[in-house]
Amino acid sequence: MPSSVISLQPEYPLESRTLKVHTFGQARDAANALNQDRRTRVLGGGTLIMRKINEGTADFDGLIRTTDPALKRIRTDSSRIELGAAVTMAAILATPELSFLHAVAAAVGGPAIRQMATIGGNLFAPVPYGDFAVALLALDARVQVQASFGTREGALDAILRGPGESSPQLVCSVTFNRPRPGQTLRYHKVARVQPKGVSVLSLAACFGARGERLSSVRLAAGALAPSPIRLSRLERALEGQRLHAAAVDTALQQLQADITPPTDAIASARYRRAVAPVYTHHTSRCEHRCINNVKPISDSFSQ
Ligand SMILES: Cc1cc2nc3c(=O)[nH]c(=O)nc-3n(C[C@H](O)[C@H](O)[C@H](O)COP(=O)(O)OP(=O)(O)OC[C@H]3O[C@@H](n4cnc5c(N)ncnc54)[C@H](O)[C@@H]3O)c2cc1C
Repeated sequence: MPSSVISLQPEYPLESRTLKVHTFGQARDAANALNQDRRTRVLGGGTLIMRKINEGTADFDGLIRTTDPALKRIRTDSSRIELGAAVTMAAILATPELSFLHAVAAAVGGPAIRQMATIGGNLFAPVPYGDFAVALLALDARVQVQASFGTREGALDAILRGPGESSPQLVCSVTFNRPRPGQTLRYHKVARVQPKGVSVLSLAACFGARGERLSSVRLAAGALAPSPIRLSRLERALEGQRLHAAAVDTALQQLQADITPPTDAIASARYRRAVAPVYTHHTSRCEHRCINNVKPISDSFSQ
C-alpha cells in the first residue's frame, strides 16, 4: 500500500484531468505498483515529467515515487562506487570524493535544474539530454533495477537502448569502478548557449596507458544516436594505439559507422555528423577537461 496518494492538477490544463501520485516508503512496493499498472511512470526530480504533465502531453495516468533512503545513497568508501537513482546532480557536486564527476554534473542544466535532476531521470531523458548517462557509459557502469524479490543488475547500455521515457522498471542505483591512478576520464559537452545550453553533442572517454599505448579504451557519446551510446568500433581502433594525432585520425575513420545522429532544434544530423570527428579527436587527445565548449563552431559547417 502506498504511504500517501495525492491528486495532481496540471498547471495549464488543456483538458480536465487529474493524475494520482502514489508514494511508497520502500522501493520494492513502488516497483510492484509500477508493474501492476502500465499507465504509470516513475517520478524522479520531475524536471522533465512535470513539464509533460503541465503541458498536457503526458501519455500516462499516474506517478509512482519512493522515499526509500537507498535511492538517495552515495557510497564512495571502496573502489566500487554506488550512486542511488534519486541522487541529484547537486548532491554529486557536494561530494568531494566524486570530484572526477563534478564537471559532468555541472554540465546538466543550471543550478535550479541540478537541485532536482536525478541520475535515474537522466538515464531516461530523451536526446539531446542524458549528459550524465554518457559519462556513466564511459565508466562502464552497471544498473540495479528493483524486482519483486531484491534487485537485479544489468548493463547500462541495455537500459539506455530500452523503451526510454516509458520504462516500466524502477532503477535503484548505478555502480562503477572509480578511475584508477593512471586512468583518465575526460568529458566534453558541446553546446551553443553558455553556460547551460543543451548538447549539440557530448563525449566521454575513459582510458589507461600501457607504456606509451592506450589501454582499456572506453568512449561514449550523447546526441549522436537516439540514446547515449558506446563508440565501440572507434574504441577497438584506438586500443593499443599511441596517443598522437595521426593514430587518432586513422582510428576516427570508424566513428561514422558508430553514430546515427538525430536532427532537432539544436542541430541537424548532418551538422552533428560533420563536427563529431573534430570533437572526438579533441576529447581523445586534449590534456584538460573541456566543459560547455561554446566557442563558435567553424562557419564551414552549415546547419
Ligand atoms: C531547462 C532544462 C535544462 C536541462 N538541461 C539538461 C542538460 O543540460 N543536460 C541533461 O542531460 N539534461 C538536461 N535537462 C533534462 C533533465 O533535467 C535531466 O536529464 C535530469 O537528470 C532528469 O532527471 P529528473 O529526476 O528530473 O527526471 P524526471 O523528470 O523525474 O523523469 C524523467 C524520466 O525518467 C524516468 N525516471 C526517473 N527516475 C527513474 C527511476 N529511478 N527509475 C526508472 N525511471 C525513472 C521518469 O519516469 C521519466 O520518464 C534539462 C531540463 C530542463 C527542464
